Amino acid sequence: MYQRREITTQERIAQEQFCEKIKDRLAGRTHYGLVDTYGCQQNESDSEILRGWLVRCGYELTADEAKADIIVVNTCAVREHAEKRALGNVGALAHRKARNPELLVCVGGCMTQQPTMRERIKSSYRVVDLAFGPHELWRFPELLWGTMQRRGRRGDRGRLLAAEPSEGVVAEGLPRRRDGGVKAWLSIMNGCDNFCSYCVVPYVRGRERSRRPGDILAEAKDLVERGYKDITLLGQNVNSYGKGLDESADFPGLLESLDQIPGDYVLRFMTSHPKDATERLFQVMGGSGHCAHHIHLPLQSGSDRILKAMNRHYDRAAYLEKAAAARRAMPDLVLTTDIIVGFPGETEEDFRQTLSLVEEARFDAMFTFIFSPRPGTPAAAMPDPVSRAEKQVWFDELLALSNRISGEKHAAYVGKTVRVLVDGQTGQTPYNLSARTRGGRLVHLAGDLALVGRFVDAKITGSSTWALDGEIV
Ligand code: SAH
Ligand code: SF4
Repeated sequence: MYQRREITTQERIAQEQFCEKIKDRLAGRTHYGLVDTYGCQQNESDSEILRGWLVRCGYELTADEAKADIIVVNTCAVREHAEKRALGNVGALAHRKARNPELLVCVGGCMTQQPTMRERIKSSYRVVDLAFGPHELWRFPELLWGTMQRRGRRGDRGRLLAAEPSEGVVAEGLPRRRDGGVKAWLSIMNGCDNFCSYCVVPYVRGRERSRRPGDILAEAKDLVERGYKDITLLGQNVNSYGKGLDESADFPGLLESLDQIPGDYVLRFMTSHPKDATERLFQVMGGSGHCAHHIHLPLQSGSDRILKAMNRHYDRAAYLEKAAAARRAMPDLVLTTDIIVGFPGETEEDFRQTLSLVEEARFDAMFTFIFSPRPGTPAAAMPDPVSRAEKQVWFDELLALSNRISGEKHAAYVGKTVRVLVDGQTGQTPYNLSARTRGGRLVHLAGDLALVGRFVDAKITGSSTWALDGEIV
């Protein structure tokens, strides 16, 4: 039975003590650490914590594998492709280890949380010294120290495989090394209770649990004070934020309180499950001073039959109504989505339904995936007669439609002046800066590098499927 468990201050201090021990052990020369990330934004955010731990343990961060004394691979399990890539890279580390036997190889993330995968790592990926699941992030120093202690012992070369089922953990105050100073991830919850029939997330990330509103607000205030301009709230289904807390809280309420933080910044969030996206959410977004007018509302399929088999709890009419309500509240709304092609039992007719919904909803951008059977999920056991080649044909057709609509939507910006946040450099000429509209569309600009982190007005001069070109005015 799921139980929420908040990590205590003592438990956190104990981890700090493991950091100190590791630091002492590393004293004498500079040791380098590298974290390699696969998958979603939540994983990017978890990798920032892993980097935070490595720094606390005395490592200096590097992007150069050849220089690293420790490599942590933070894996994804959502599709087989992501797992294969991660495993391929882990396997390739054997060459590095042959040259540097002291190299520590750690594998974390969702892939490792699966029992079959852990067995596979144990038997076939002997290069791995430590495997740990996402629930173990808060005690990474303890696991790392354990691995270091076991090293040199006889037997299984001191390997530690620790993807324990310690579900329900909520940990505050973990160290974090953020990437850059403009955009920040802010995780508001973990896990998922939806059990969409194709999805592995609820199995690997565990039951849904929310951070306390006070902790989230304090982190957001700190980010704004430190100059971050673009804050993305993260959760598998942010719309069910607050469930299970002993204080009353919901997502629109959280957005309203975050919006009160003074300053010039944009608030974004992902992901929003259509079944729980409410009129009130759209109203709060529309009335907010900081909220991006962007909603990522994964559709998955336009066929009612397939949506039911996916366990999504909405039909195409309900989805279209939500999209329309969101657009009524925010006429300049940017609407993006995810779609799975070739779900087991999907027919040509079902697929046509998806195409027609896409034509109707006119998404600004779409992320499209071919169904990937995930071991242990109900969909993996469903009859799946359509060949991979046929699915690829559907996929290509959907992608062409998506590109056409995105291109048309982008073309409509040309000639308009929009406020954008300059968020980075492109390393290219003449458009050396990248920027985002409030709705999150990518804009390429030419200008002084000192503008990174500033809001500017840009006149849109050109467009493509993926991005806009503009001039600072
Ligand atoms: N919690 C988010 C995202 C989950 S994973 C949500 O519910 O929207 C991100 C996307 O990956 C999903 O929206 C889905 O489109 C895709 N996905 C998940 N499982 C998949 C699978 N087994 N095969 C193909 N795509 C999948
Ligand atoms: Fe997976 Fe569905 Fe949960 Fe998203 S809402 S993480 S698709 S189970």
